[in-house]
Amino acid sequence: MKTLQKTRLKWREARLFARAMTSDAHPILAQVIPIRRCNLACTYCNEFDKHSPPVPTDEMFRRLDKLSELGTSIITFSGGEPMLHPDLDQLIARARHNGAVVTLITNGYLLTPKRIKELNVSGLDYLQISIDNVVPDEVSKKSLKVLDRKLQWLAEFANFEVTINSVLGSSIDCAEDAHTIAVQARNLNFTSTVGILHDHEGQLKALSDTQAAIHKKIIGLGAGLFSFAHHDSFQENIARAMPNSWHCPAGGRFLYICEDGLVHYCSQQRGRPGIPLLQYTREDILRESRRPKGCAPFCTISCVHQTAMLDDFRTKPRETLTGIISRRRERDPAWQLPLLVRCLEWAFLRNSRARDWFGAIALRTLRVRRQERSASK
Ligand code: SF4
Ligand code: SF4
Repeated sequence: MKTLQKTRLKWREARLFARAMTSDAHPILAQVIPIRRCNLACTYCNEFDKHSPPVPTDEMFRRLDKLSELGTSIITFSGGEPMLHPDLDQLIARARHNGAVVTLITNGYLLTPKRIKELNVSGLDYLQISIDNVVPDEVSKKSLKVLDRKLQWLAEFANFEVTINSVLGSSIDCAEDAHTIAVQARNLNFTSTVGILHDHEGQLKALSDTQAAIHKKIIGLGAGLFSFAHHDSFQENIARAMPNSWHCPAGGRFLYICEDGLVHYCSQQRGRPGIPLLQYTREDILRESRRPKGCAPFCTISCVHQTAMLDDFRTKPRETLTGIISRRRERDPAWQLPLLVRCLEWAFLRNSRARDWFGAIALRTLRVRRQERSASK
């Protein structure tokens, strides 16, 4: 059952990738806030309060349907703590029904075997938990010690994919904890990622030498296709407190929808453009996506980096793929290309005539429609 579900998910993701390659006029990822309230109070966090009610379910349906109308590929429910929304499962089911890949970012405190099975039924594709330390401290209670039982339940009952994110710089004097968390995630067959704490404008807070060494060690654990790209030069530069040269497509390819239903660039750049989602248009997407963002060089918001990377791949596939592969091989000469990257390498780097042929077959096989392909023209 789980294998079949995984295969279907990979197929849907391949379609998503193909659509992202053929049009720049739709959001790849929208982060949606169904409730601002949180049951924890991590001291570094500026994304929660202690009082907000859940957004009414009918209003959430309107927003999700609007995102679908705009062609959004991935919906991520975040917060606050999204599991405090009483109809979260209905919201996930609605987004799935609309054709999106659906992710939930949670602190994990409300997970039980029953809730995990209900999330299976809702159609959830991915769940991400950020864990900050091994034992709770005054900064964060998102601790391996508290959440380990929940992780065991996820390993036993979840039909969806689980990612454990350890955040460097989030807790006091325990950088080694991030490595312990990543190892435990791998032991349970989850994906593990490592993030770097940003300040209240999404900007880099430099890592100490110890933290930078741990960061390298976690990356050394290895990862899948998108993870290797994600940890590529962007993350390395961030770890070394160096600027990145990239274009941030927030407001277009990435949308952050707050509890009031306004579109913002991201969780750390709220108020811009500040347009109600229900009035958002294709012109808004193209304009904001192309607008330069002064905060880009020291930005640490990795999900926006990843959408930008898809756009790089769309506009300059050869350079992007060559860069990713050569930088990874510099770090690890024995690194073997994953199967999908080998296909892309063959199609884009070794055989220019094959590239058109490969693209046409892939789009037809993945049933990406002609009007989707022409949306950017
Ligand atoms: S659990 Fe998440 S949303 Fe809640 S306070 Fe901590 S970081 Fe913020
Ligand atoms: S560069 Fe983009 S994602 Fe990063 S903080 Fe600025 S607007 Fe947000």
